[in-house]
Amino acid sequence: MAAAQSDRDPPSLLCSEFLHFSAKDTALRWLAAADLQQEVSYHLAVYVPRILCLGPSGGSSREEQREEQREDLASQLLLLAPLEWLLLGEEPASGLHLLQENNQPSPLCGHVFKVGEPTYSCRECAADPTCVLCMKCFLGSIHKEHRYRMTTSGGGGFCDCGDAEAWKKGPYCQQHRHPPTDRDAEEDPVSVLPADMVARGVSIFSILLKYAVDMLTWDQEDQLPAGLEPLKREDTYYCMLFNDEVHTYEQVIYTLQKAVNCSQKEAVSFATTVDRDGRKSVRYGDFQFCDQAKSVIVRNTSRQSKPLRVQVMHSSVVAHQCFALRALSWLGQIIQYSDGLRRVLCEVGLQRGPEGEYSSLVDKLMLNDSKMWKGARNIYHQLLMNSLLMDLKYKKIFAIQFAKNYRRLQTDFMEDDHERVVSVTSLSVQLFTVPTMARMLMVEENLMTTIIKTFVDHLRHRDLQGRFQFDRYTAQQAFKFGRVQSLIGDLKYILISRPSEWSDQLRLKFLEGLDAFLELLKCMQGMDPVVRQVGQHIEMEPEWEAAFTLQMKLTHIISMIQEWCSTDEHVLIEAYRKCLSALSHCHSGLPDGEQPISLSVAGHCVETFRYQVSQDKVSIHLPVCRLLAGLHVLLSRTEVASRFPEQLPLGELSPPLLIELPLRCLVLCAQVHAGMWRRNGFSLINQIYYYHNVKCRVEMFDKDMIMLQAGASMMDPNHFLMIVLSRFELFHIFSSADCRKRYRDTHKDVVQQNNTLMEEMLHLIIMVVGERYVSGVGQVESFDEVRREIIHQLSIRPMAHSELVKALPENGNKETGLERVIDSVASFKKPGVTGRGLYELRPEWNKHFNLYFHHFSRADQSKAEEAQRKLRRQNGEDTALPPPSPPLLCPLFGSLVNLLQCDVLLAVEGAVLQWAVEPSGGGWTESMLQRVLHLVGVALLEEEQQLESSSRDDDVTFNYTCKITRPGEAPSTSGSVLALLESLQNAPHLEVHKDMITWILKMVANIKTMRERTSSTLTVPVCPGQGPEETLRDKDKAERKRKAEMARLRREKIMAQMSEMQKHFINENKELFQQSLEELEASTSAAADNSPPSSESTCVAQVCVGPRRVGGAEHRQLVTCILCQEEQEVRGQGRAMVLAAFIQRSTVLSKNRRRNLPDPERHDPLFMNPDLSLGIHTASCGHIMHATCWQRYFEAVQLKEQRRQQRLRGHTSYDVENGEFLCPLCECLSNTVIPLLPHTHTPDYRVDHPSLEAWLKMTNQQITAIHSAHRKPSDGVAERAEPAVPDGFKVDFTPQNLFSSSVKEMITTFSMSTYKVGLKVNPNEQDQRVPVLSWSTCAYTIQSIERLLMEEDKPLFGSLPCRQDDCLSSLTRFSSACWTAAPPTTVQSHFIRLLAALVPDSRVENTLSILDIDMFHLLVYSVLSYSSVHSLDQSGQRVVDSAHLHILHLVTVAHLVQILLTSTTEEVCMDQDSSASEEEELTCRLYNTLRKHLGSVLPEVTSGWQLFRCVKAGCLPFLRATALFFHYLNSTAPPADLLVAGPGQWEALCSYLDLPSNLLQLHQNQHTLLEPLIHRWCCHPVVRQTLQVDGVIVRFPRESNRLIQLPEDYSILINQASSFTCPRSGGDKSRAPTLCLVCGSMLCSQSYCCQTEVDGEDVGACTAHTFTCGAGLGLFLRVRESQVLFVAGKTKGCFYPPPYLDDYGETDQGLKRGNPLHLCAERYRKIERLWRQHGIAEVIGHAQEANQTLVAIDWQHL
Ligand SMILES: [Zn+2]
Ligand SMILES: [Zn+2]
Ligand SMILES: [Zn+2]
Ligand SMILES: [Zn+2]
Ligand SMILES: [Zn+2]
Ligand SMILES: [Zn+2]
Ligand SMILES: [Zn+2]
Repeated sequence: MAAAQSDRDPPSLLCSEFLHFSAKDTALRWLAAADLQQEVSYHLAVYVPRILCLGPSGGSSREEQREEQREDLASQLLLLAPLEWLLLGEEPASGLHLLQENNQPSPLCGHVFKVGEPTYSCRECAADPTCVLCMKCFLGSIHKEHRYRMTTSGGGGFCDCGDAEAWKKGPYCQQHRHPPTDRDAEEDPVSVLPADMVARGVSIFSILLKYAVDMLTWDQEDQLPAGLEPLKREDTYYCMLFNDEVHTYEQVIYTLQKAVNCSQKEAVSFATTVDRDGRKSVRYGDFQFCDQAKSVIVRNTSRQSKPLRVQVMHSSVVAHQCFALRALSWLGQIIQYSDGLRRVLCEVGLQRGPEGEYSSLVDKLMLNDSKMWKGARNIYHQLLMNSLLMDLKYKKIFAIQFAKNYRRLQTDFMEDDHERVVSVTSLSVQLFTVPTMARMLMVEENLMTTIIKTFVDHLRHRDLQGRFQFDRYTAQQAFKFGRVQSLIGDLKYILISRPSEWSDQLRLKFLEGLDAFLELLKCMQGMDPVVRQVGQHIEMEPEWEAAFTLQMKLTHIISMIQEWCSTDEHVLIEAYRKCLSALSHCHSGLPDGEQPISLSVAGHCVETFRYQVSQDKVSIHLPVCRLLAGLHVLLSRTEVASRFPEQLPLGELSPPLLIELPLRCLVLCAQVHAGMWRRNGFSLINQIYYYHNVKCRVEMFDKDMIMLQAGASMMDPNHFLMIVLSRFELFHIFSSADCRKRYRDTHKDVVQQNNTLMEEMLHLIIMVVGERYVSGVGQVESFDEVRREIIHQLSIRPMAHSELVKALPENGNKETGLERVIDSVASFKKPGVTGRGLYELRPEWNKHFNLYFHHFSRADQSKAEEAQRKLRRQNGEDTALPPPSPPLLCPLFGSLVNLLQCDVLLAVEGAVLQWAVEPSGGGWTESMLQRVLHLVGVALLEEEQQLESSSRDDDVTFNYTCKITRPGEAPSTSGSVLALLESLQNAPHLEVHKDMITWILKMVANIKTMRERTSSTLTVPVCPGQGPEETLRDKDKAERKRKAEMARLRREKIMAQMSEMQKHFINENKELFQQSLEELEASTSAAADNSPPSSESTCVAQVCVGPRRVGGAEHRQLVTCILCQEEQEVRGQGRAMVLAAFIQRSTVLSKNRRRNLPDPERHDPLFMNPDLSLGIHTASCGHIMHATCWQRYFEAVQLKEQRRQQRLRGHTSYDVENGEFLCPLCECLSNTVIPLLPHTHTPDYRVDHPSLEAWLKMTNQQITAIHSAHRKPSDGVAERAEPAVPDGFKVDFTPQNLFSSSVKEMITTFSMSTYKVGLKVNPNEQDQRVPVLSWSTCAYTIQSIERLLMEEDKPLFGSLPCRQDDCLSSLTRFSSACWTAAPPTTVQSHFIRLLAALVPDSRVENTLSILDIDMFHLLVYSVLSYSSVHSLDQSGQRVVDSAHLHILHLVTVAHLVQILLTSTTEEVCMDQDSSASEEEELTCRLYNTLRKHLGSVLPEVTSGWQLFRCVKAGCLPFLRATALFFHYLNSTAPPADLLVAGPGQWEALCSYLDLPSNLLQLHQNQHTLLEPLIHRWCCHPVVRQTLQVDGVIVRFPRESNRLIQLPEDYSILINQASSFTCPRSGGDKSRAPTLCLVCGSMLCSQSYCCQTEVDGEDVGACTAHTFTCGAGLGLFLRVRESQVLFVAGKTKGCFYPPPYLDDYGETDQGLKRGNPLHLCAERYRKIERLWRQHGIAEVIGHAQEANQTLVAIDWQHL
């Protein structure tokens, strides 16, 4: 590498030459030259290799950036500037400006979308869903107020604002206005430009574009095109690595490290660039050097698959290719200035070259697309979009060229291994979705046929009959199949908008396209046939998905083709004819059996095939039949059939043939349900599922039903039913003479199968006669169709909007029609803080419920039945679910009703009823009966309807009632159907159906009366509401109502009696009751002891600290172990009881997120900084156990985990190795236990309380004594005078053991846990810091709870839930005792250092300034550590409480000083009236003292009122936290004023803490004593420094942290995220931008580029961020997914619903639905509260317990 470098020109030389270069002169020279092309080529040949690609790329990114800047500058100055001069003929900057000013821009926005940018589509006005707006245009458009959809772009594509064809309404936003009318739309923008500029433009553009095209399509590694060869050839090469989709990131990284000897980081960077740009040079040097790398790479990657593509390219080739890209970008920029130049470029690009038709430069680019690398493709695609697609004239010409090349481009794309977004074929969406363009391409280029034929050509797997065959299809084929599907997308684009006018040409080409399409469908007809497996289970599940994918993709196309047909009668008739002949072609191989068989039953006779679904081949794929069914309905709907019957070849296929295949398919489903196909495995089950599924059913199941209806309406109904019976293989049951007798089969399975088949068949008949909600079958509109679907979905249960959308089929525009209908049938219920909004069916629509609705699955049906019956019972109605009255049939389907009264059906009905009368024996089910009753009901409704609508009896052809009164015919001698029904009415075994039978009988009676009336008096009209049936019904209803009312009254009476008895009982046993209530309370809040303040203590002020405090130790604490249920008293010397607890590091209160995490080994935690940047939080679920019980439990958990790990490796939701477990009762995540300790005793009031001065003096003596005692053993050299020791103070005294060994052990356990978690170190009982961390968690937890209570406006006491109360209480008492587990000298020296922070002590060095100490922590630590000093005092003359009070006073004064120092920077002078209060005066006095020490550092303050207000507000949190601390430490009941929120808090607080309510008196009263202390605090050098230099000053009160503000509109976030670039890979778009909700940082998540090493492991950006921002815990919003992410540590995480809802009260996780989303403040507050309560880890734990798949996710990679 070094050799290559030394050969090169010294840069300085180059620079001087470059300095003398004049772009203007060069341009002038060129202008004068005879051959411009030659001149420019020569210039490029000279300069390009000297400017670009001069050395190795890679290395540090900063170097690379600098190199890139240099290249940019040099190319602009030396290469592009002359071209600009030449083009403009003047100074480029002014020339371009002029150009732009004279430009009349096209109204198109044309903004090209970045990956992840939000796009908007109006659901009301967009021509199709591909029409989108950019955010800017959308906000300025009328569609903002419409129903719109929001999605994120996958990159590419542009904004359609200004395209009149894309929008039905409002095509222009405010910015892109309609072009002024005076301007001729057809005006050529080129004519605006000066002619000479146009001429120069043509030549420059063609030279440069040709150069770029030549270079980008250049495939030689070592040579350049003629005219570009470098003057001096050097041995400098690049080893170029290309992208492929075969090798993984890891493989590439690993290989590169080996091949080019780079670090892992560099390899990652190479791999990232290769992935992004498609290629990257990984080595630079002489040929051999590069070739060597190449062979290593090839060797390393060729083992499993084809090797990575690597080329060794000469540096000049690479340089020219790089400049070619720059040239294209330059062209793209230049044409932005002028629409005229844009058109010039278009002209140049599309000009036919010398080689003939496909030789324009654009053709060359397109045809070489698949050979280019990604980066090159992206740049020229972008240019195409900026030029050809923005020019209306050339867009058309380009579209034609694109269509001409279509086949070749698609074929190239099949071989290309890049994604479609980087293929030129993806431009189809820009061209084909413009309706006029699509129509033109269809007519002129026969595009529809071309697409379909290309598609068919690429699906080559066929069976012998020429049908597609997807079984045994390989991954390679699957990949190809995936690619081919994009063709269907193109087809969809050109069909998506129906033509409003047809030309003859269009008809011709469409029908030609239809022919091609029918060829495609013919290949699908009958594909993947199945044969029932008997005996053995199938060996291998056949592949079925490919066929269904194809079907699913084509569904919309098939529907669209039908829609096209529906708009033109000629086309419709012609299409019908073509489809029919295609079907006959398919049928040519049909008649399976050799001889037809003849069937006869009930006096009718028919011939049919010999074919059995259970034995012969059957296929689910029948698209030709189904298309015909669809066209048939259209004929019916448009009434073409009745107007031109002669044109229709209806007789060409016999009806039995038409129904044959759909019927087989439906029978197959029935047999699968009956369990006859079990041995065929899951693939068949799946196929049946999709056949009915909403994604496929429109063009599968639904059309089969229609075909049966069409066939049945053209046949003798008896024949139809006989064929159905025969295909269901049930014919034999009814053909025998005694069919009304129960058939008996020996085999139980067979009986059961037949029963199911009977049920299925009856269901099928119900659907054939009853399903009329298809426009064309029944007289309905599509509106009615959708409404009926919704009614039936909501009959199952109330549903969310998205559930309903999922249950309805979408059309090609992704619309279901739901919104149009929903409000008319349902009412909306808003969601709460959880859950989602639901739609409920309005009661008036219940009567439209049809139990046999054809789209119900069996499960839906039974759920709906149950719900409907329940509803009717609640309303006091009968529970019959009669069929709803059906809509009228269209004429073409009119004869369907005859099925209901035909002889065969009556025979079937009679048989089933007969079986029901004699129910013993197996061959009968209630479902069968239910279906028969339903059919009878449908028939009666039909008759009633006909009677109502006809004026004379003889009009009515339908006389079902008459037929069912006739007794059975000759062989079966039993009664008529009606007689059978009457006898069944009171059958005890049919209680469930009684209501339905009653309904039927009443209907029969009603119809009889109607018939009598119409036949007797023709003049009397029939009033439906007043028939005798109605009155009968009313009567019945009234009776039911009365009964229900009586039942209600009875119930109420009983309830009243019971509650009376209860009251009595309570009164009598009042005491007993009270007691049990108390017990209940005691057991829930076991350790807390908030005994109601007794009468005396409410009078006397309650004090919680100091020698006057009231204790609470008098109560015995009894608690129950949740594991063994034994009761136990909490005693220091007893069996230890513990509380499950969870300790975590926390930054929730942090005021400085930039502070680095402390070094665990050296960190000194004795003083907490007031920024609270890292704390230790403890929480508990409040569940108590014996220590021994817990230990046993935990050991069991450990053992179980060890065994589990041996079996299957993987994580659990808790980490046993780190001491984690789940609370055995509530499964709350825990990682330690807190021991329960007894209350402290009330102090001895007889002991004197020394003054502060006396106490300080004595303490000083004690400390001196301790010091000298400590020194003695160590130095022992100098004998010094024994210091004065207070009497009774024994330095070497060993305090007695306060605790039993088990309690002690638990104290150590918890201490170690806080130590371990707090510092992230291994346990070490000897470490001096152990007790400090225990105090720290106590102080921090209290502080954070105080903040929570403040934020939520809750009273300080009495509002905490039991578990928190218990936790704080035990935590505080533990902290006060934890010093006993540490060596006393350690704790003593802590105390000495703590005190020295406030009171000068010459023996302590390096004291902190008071601005660097959190006073509450200092207070807690001092109070808790003082016990170790006090324990040495054996005089009995002093109580520990005096010291507490003095420490409190001292710390409070220090805090006041701290507040005054930090709170007065800005002066808000609001002069109160002159008479200042005492408080204000004292505040001013103290402040002036401070100013005396610090001088001008502190501003002058005139308003004492202002200062005092600051002090009071600043001090409040401290006082509140202190009150909590002493409350829990001393178990003093809180005063009543603090149990409620309200005024008087301050006074109550001060008195509870034994402080003067004017806090300043603390200072005033001890003025002389405190003065030197204050002086020393102020003179600490750090104080001055902090105040002068604007460092991080923490001000008081510290504001509570909130999660960041989120915008109301979610798309704002998406937009932000889309412009976010990865911070590591130089301006690259981030794939998973993720927002930290704590600090607002945007991160590049889930990506290699931003992985960081944390503790020796690579983690993703989110996890890495949690360690700096949240001490290992994080809350994020994944913007693309609209999902909240919680992570804790490296292995734990879960997703959480985002706080954004759509108008239907639903979240959209994954942003799939695209409804506009808005911030739900309540939900966001809920997340915030979770965070502040330190509840995130627990939420994760619960989520992982509930959903094991969450455990397996590699959270650390996010
Ligand atoms: Zn736009
Ligand atoms: Zn616009
Ligand atoms: Zn709109
Ligand atoms: Zn126990
Ligand atoms: Zn628990
Ligand atoms: Zn953050
Ligand atoms: Zn990144």
